[in-house]
Amino acid sequence: MTDEARQAAEQAAERRSGALRAAVARRLVSEEQPVVGLLDTAGVRRSATALHAAFATPGVAVQHTFAVKAASLVPVLGLLREYGLGAEVASPGELALARAAGIPPAMTVLDSPAKSTAELREALALGIAVNADNPEELARIDALLAAAPSASPLGLRVNPQVGGGSIDAMSTATATSKFGVALRDPGAEEWVLRSYAERPWLTRLHTHTGSQGVPLPLMAAGVRAAYDLAERINAAAGRQQVTTLDIGGGLPVDFTSDATDPTFGAYADLLRAEVPGLFDGRYGIVTEFGRSLLAKHGTVLARVEYAKSAGGRPIAVTHAGAQVATRTVFAPDAWPLRVLALDPQGRPKTGEPVVQDVAGPCCFAGDLVARGRALPLLAAGDHVALLDTGAYYFSTHFAYNALPRPAVWAYAGEPGAEPGFAPVRAAQTLDELLAESGAALPPLQP
Ligand SMILES: *Cc1c(COP(=O)(O)O)cnc(C)c1O
Repeated sequence: MTDEARQAAEQAAERRSGALRAAVARRLVSEEQPVVGLLDTAGVRRSATALHAAFATPGVAVQHTFAVKAASLVPVLGLLREYGLGAEVASPGELALARAAGIPPAMTVLDSPAKSTAELREALALGIAVNADNPEELARIDALLAAAPSASPLGLRVNPQVGGGSIDAMSTATATSKFGVALRDPGAEEWVLRSYAERPWLTRLHTHTGSQGVPLPLMAAGVRAAYDLAERINAAAGRQQVTTLDIGGGLPVDFTSDATDPTFGAYADLLRAEVPGLFDGRYGIVTEFGRSLLAKHGTVLARVEYAKSAGGRPIAVTHAGAQVATRTVFAPDAWPLRVLALDPQGRPKTGEPVVQDVAGPCCFAGDLVARGRALPLLAAGDHVALLDTGAYYFSTHFAYNALPRPAVWAYAGEPGAEPGFAPVRAAQTLDELLAESGAALPPLQP
């Protein structure tokens, strides 16, 4: 880590400590609201700036989009738009969120593997970029374009089949991945070349090699394979038919410390070395990062309701479990989180570390966010903070046990100063929960 990066990480940790204390003092977390999500806007700005700087290249048009699934919150998408990021969407809901955040169609990319005809028709009417996932989808687009012209930039998603990373569920470039056209399958490349030759409007090529757990060299190999294919398509066409390469997202995040590692800069440098032609001005670049833009900037803060012991194991029963840390609870080995033990005022607890479990409120035995973790012994009235949860955690609530979606607050301010808080999402009320559970519907007839 450079001195500058170390200092930035220390400042972010200091801002976080201040926000945790202030959130307790201002009762953003309380008996009524026992769990909240907190987002550090200064950190988000820093990541967005680093992303722009990493890829900026004279003569190359770069459009960074944010993968909406990583934080499906309109104010967050709006903030990212202020920092020049568009949106990568994968459902009608995500598209609606991006539009509500004011992200223009020209900065939006639609990538889902299961786009319906209605969804495709809307995207083509709006002029949103669409990456077709498979031959059947491409045929649907043919039919829609025959019925109505579209300004949408159109491409095809390919799976370079370069292999998986350390988390199977996150590896999209395995031999049998469900995403895109599997390039190394017999006849696949010939089909791709023919498809582009027959469709002069196919001007993009898309690949996304995977998310957390995929090492940088594998990501770069995926981009390299897509670039090489684009070169072959263009050679066959005798012109620059593919003008834009969409290289997806997937930069992994360090969940073990406050460090940002790897950085956008390291990835862009690797791409410059491995795929130099990508930066020589013949191609525009689209990126779709999610986790790496937000994870480090979010924290789940929750109250400890009870402290107990079972079989000699101390257990802190908190209000943060599978509903806000779904992946960590269901796949604890793949998604370990750092947990801070905080006192009733939201300050770091001191005291000898004691091996304990940190449990959530859900009614199943596996609802643990940390197992056998050495932390100062937690007691009722204390708090816990789940770090690095700014992407995919509190924004992607799991509605188990009819637990309400927690509020999310953004904090801003200088390290050491009292932070200001702005609402990002209100906590779900019991009335809203009842309404979405069919409470207003007539009873079923027995
Ligand atoms: C999920 C996803 C992303 C973002 O992945 P991260 O690991 O959050 O960066 C980008 N592109 C596509 C197609 C995705 O499915």
